[in-house]
Amino acid sequence: MKRFEHFNAKTIDEAILLLEKYDGEAKVIAGGTDLIRVLKDDILPKYPKAIINLKTIANLEYIKEENGVLKIGSLTRLSDVASSSLIKTKYNLLSEACRSVGTPQIRNMGTIGGNLCQDVQCWYYRASKSLGKVFHCLRKGGNVCYAVSGDNRFHSIFGGKGCVAVCPSDVAIALTALDALVKTKGPLGERVFPVSELYKDAALNLGRSEIVTEIQVPEPPPEARQIWIKFRLRNSLDFAIVSVAVMLTLEEGVCKDVRIALGGVAPTPKRLKEVEDFLKGNYINSETAEKAGKMAVAKAFPLSHNAYKIPITESLVKRVILMAKDHRTLT
Ligand SMILES: Cc1cc2nc3c(=O)[nH]c(=O)nc-3n(C[C@H](O)[C@H](O)[C@H](O)COP(=O)(O)OP(=O)(O)OC[C@H]3O[C@@H](n4cnc5c(N)ncnc54)[C@H](O)[C@@H]3O)c2cc1C
Repeated sequence: MKRFEHFNAKTIDEAILLLEKYDGEAKVIAGGTDLIRVLKDDILPKYPKAIINLKTIANLEYIKEENGVLKIGSLTRLSDVASSSLIKTKYNLLSEACRSVGTPQIRNMGTIGGNLCQDVQCWYYRASKSLGKVFHCLRKGGNVCYAVSGDNRFHSIFGGKGCVAVCPSDVAIALTALDALVKTKGPLGERVFPVSELYKDAALNLGRSEIVTEIQVPEPPPEARQIWIKFRLRNSLDFAIVSVAVMLTLEEGVCKDVRIALGGVAPTPKRLKEVEDFLKGNYINSETAEKAGKMAVAKAFPLSHNAYKIPITESLVKRVILMAKDHRTLT
């Protein structure tokens, strides 16, 4: 690792002031499970001059409900979110998604804010001098996304605005199906916006001195059925090849409400609004679930090496809908 200044911020405002002072040449650190790797491999176009520790800020680690909204402090560890009895009971989709992240060690260190803000896993982006080669890709300020014409087996099947790396965060996919919001604070004050809007083009939709402070999840109706499925190469530990999060409310077998989000297939969490509109008001059975699976991939345009994700996505969408209908879970 190279030399950098290290600050233990005591408040969010102090962290923001420090970020301002370093004018884009500082990074915040939470659990460090991603950032330390990024620093060791030296993959950033500019090595940060300062690291600002958020873990020393009091009161950013909490899980509570207020007026029908679940509020999670951004420093809350993934293991605490996964094991919270409140979240297991009412927001099980989020609990399952957190439980599917990495290993117990990663979940014990990694925070929910860090999970949402982690860097992409694209191997062109992650390549570095210490690993043998650097690709000055679009995400690093270059002009080319090397994955488009290179080895893109783990990349987007729904395109991207230049960069085709997929959103790496499982938590973001579950939160998108739960219609969650993210709260941030920066020099211009606070913002609250949908989790899916945290991801854009080839970067996070955050100002250079903006910090994620809280995640807010509206309480799902008690009868809503929530399912999380993640297809990965190694079940013990891996990022998603394809993941699907669904929240389905039925009334006498007819879909009253549904939200479906896909992960591993696009640069941002992908809400399937057309599929949701088709399902609403229809009986949920194997025919409608199958049609939903086909609709989910109708607009996919795979790259040279990732067409295999299409049948996986199609069958997982069908499967989650039927599992939700039958109240089945994977465990
Ligand atoms: C072996 C391994 C397997 C993994 N598998 C999965 C997986 O299956 N699914 C999955 O979703 N993830 C996976 N991950 C990623 C892991 O979940 C993240 O590394 C972790 O959640 C990041 O949290 P952290 O608190 O350690 O963040 P840090 O490493 O501290 O920070 C990560 C990034 O987020 C920024 N950041 C942190 N907190 C904030 C904040 N509050 N506001 C703004 N920016 C912030 C940092 O500046 C940094 O850029 C895996 C990681 C490893 C190492």
